[in-house]
Amino acid sequence: MIIVLTGTPGTGKSSLAKALAKKLKFPYLDVNKVIDKENLIIEYDKERDSNVVDENKLSKVLVKLIKSNKDLIIDSHLSHYIPQKHVDFCIVTKCDLKVLKKRLEKRKYSKSKVRENMEAEIFDICLNEAIEAKHNIIILDTTKRTLKGLIKTVENEINKN
Ligand code: ADP
Ligand code: MN
Repeated sequence: MIIVLTGTPGTGKSSLAKALAKKLKFPYLDVNKVIDKENLIIEYDKERDSNVVDENKLSKVLVKLIKSNKDLIIDSHLSHYIPQKHVDFCIVTKCDLKVLKKRLEKRKYSKSKVRENMEAEIFDICLNEAIEAKHNIIILDTTKRTLKGLIKTVENEINKN
């Protein structure tokens, strides 16, 4: 089973992905590590204070990894770009805006980076792109939920299908 976790930075992907991998005994894949290892950064966008990733190449590398793993938990706000046919479930994490702002500020993100991510969450960019890609979506708001409770919800959703 291939599960991808997408969502605005700070909404709780990595926390949940790692806990879920442990619970389901699936391997955990940190896409940032793949990006580093495969040299997939095209350039640094100074204005946005973020790296520009070669999304086409990344998708190819990830599909290859999917094909060589029976089960996988993939953690990245870019993971919904993996074509739907390779993915069983696409979890989209969400978070209350006030809480998200606090989480991002705690990361010492610049004001503009906090704002950019807040806007991404307000406009549900990841969720809308995941819907557009026709993923089998599980939306999870992590604001007031424990990891244990979130995992339970995921397990229920998986067992429904
Ligand atoms: P992402 O990988 O989407 O950027 P993280 O998993 O790194 O998000 O979480 C961002 C911050 O939010 C961390 O400080 C983490 O402790 C907190 N957090 C994540 N999930 C929860 C949750 N379910 N309840 C409370 N805090 C959470
Ligand atoms: Mn993360």
